[in-house]
Amino acid sequence: MMNKQKIMFLALFVLYPALLFSGNDISVDVILSNLKRIYAEAHSSNEAWERLAVLCDDYGPRLSGSQNLEKAIDWLQGMLIKDGFDSVWTEPVMVPKWVRIHEECKLVYPRSKAVPVLAFGGSVSTPPNGISAEVLVVDNFDELESNREKVKGKIVVFNPPYENYGKTVQYRWIGAVRAAQYGAVAALCRAVSPLSMNNPHTGVMNYEDSVLKIPFASISEEDALLLKRFQKRGITPKIFLNIQTADSGKSPSRNLIAEIRGSVYPSEIIAFGGHIDSWDVGSGAQDDGAGCIASWQALKIIKTLGIRPKRTLRLVFWVNEENGLEGGKKYAELHKHENHRLMFEFDSGVFPPSWIGFSGPDSIWEKVQPFEGFLQKFYPDVKIQQGGGGVDISPMTKLGFPGASLGTDDGGKYFWYHHSHTDTPDKVNPEDLNNCSAVIAMFIYLFSELI
Ligand SMILES: [Zn+2]
Repeated sequence: MMNKQKIMFLALFVLYPALLFSGNDISVDVILSNLKRIYAEAHSSNEAWERLAVLCDDYGPRLSGSQNLEKAIDWLQGMLIKDGFDSVWTEPVMVPKWVRIHEECKLVYPRSKAVPVLAFGGSVSTPPNGISAEVLVVDNFDELESNREKVKGKIVVFNPPYENYGKTVQYRWIGAVRAAQYGAVAALCRAVSPLSMNNPHTGVMNYEDSVLKIPFASISEEDALLLKRFQKRGITPKIFLNIQTADSGKSPSRNLIAEIRGSVYPSEIIAFGGHIDSWDVGSGAQDDGAGCIASWQALKIIKTLGIRPKRTLRLVFWVNEENGLEGGKKYAELHKHENHRLMFEFDSGVFPPSWIGFSGPDSIWEKVQPFEGFLQKFYPDVKIQQGGGGVDISPMTKLGFPGASLGTDDGGKYFWYHHSHTDTPDKVNPEDLNNCSAVIAMFIYLFSELI
């Protein structure tokens, strides 16, 4: 009996004559042979992982506005030039500069205990000597509403159980505004993560001009649950909180770009990459150092193999995805008049590759979908499906350019590390990184040759 792989492969020969007929002069044999070479090259070393380790270890976390980020971009630019791509350049972007200076959180009643804390990006400071206040724990916004008479003068602790990132992150995004509306002096939020080892997770938050800005920070799930248990037993816990941050306006940074120019249609661009900035804790390994390195390695594999793609392959390291999207917006401003056939982003963590999502016109989708047969020769479980995109490429996809992204099978682990001290290169498996690099290289190669 024929297995699924064989059926898919035979289907290629039924589907691809249509593509060959529609103006493609490249044979299935040539494509398959290049895909095999890409796979072999991707697995010939752990160079990608070694580069990730240097990026993370030598330069550290890469928050927008930091020296770390600018030094990391300088190093990457030098390395891209060394790789010998057709062109390598940077484009200036003004990014927000917010700095974490000092933070301390302690339970002071009913007993003394240190509480690990991480201010959310953009949080204002407490008074210089900190504040001490009673705590009110709420599991959700409904509970806040029904207890709004009790909020004044307190530190509100949001304790939402993790459902999924998109749903639970709303507490981090608007929690400070909601608590301040009823007179809270500060707010804390349980880490937005499916697993806690007593670690808080930072991330971007929002204020509204019409509502007093109060300090807002993450605490661990363990501490949020401890406070909740006290409250349930009729005890009102008291917390001391000292957060000192600085908002220094805007600071110059750069998007970093490298290209292999198309041999037949150089003005047709396939842009792909990740965001080079990170939060200021851990070292931004999974978010999104590894996404950048996998994309870079994909371009390097194609260059090393001497493949001349028909269309221009443009690697982009966008800046400031985490707290402003200024890199993505600037890219769209400068490049929206160019003929982008595809915007591709990898920012979902490096784990075994699982799917490529595509959003774009049906006429292109019909050509992209059969790529699955090619990819499954090497990765039988990787699917090509509808619906793809990313934050950095959103200013371009909103203008109507097709978007795509690589998804991985992380088993929920990505958000264990995301935006925390634990996001370090040891969380990235070298073999997964090689596989993600290979899948990106294969996909952009197929797109370049067959669209
Ligand atoms: Zn990210």
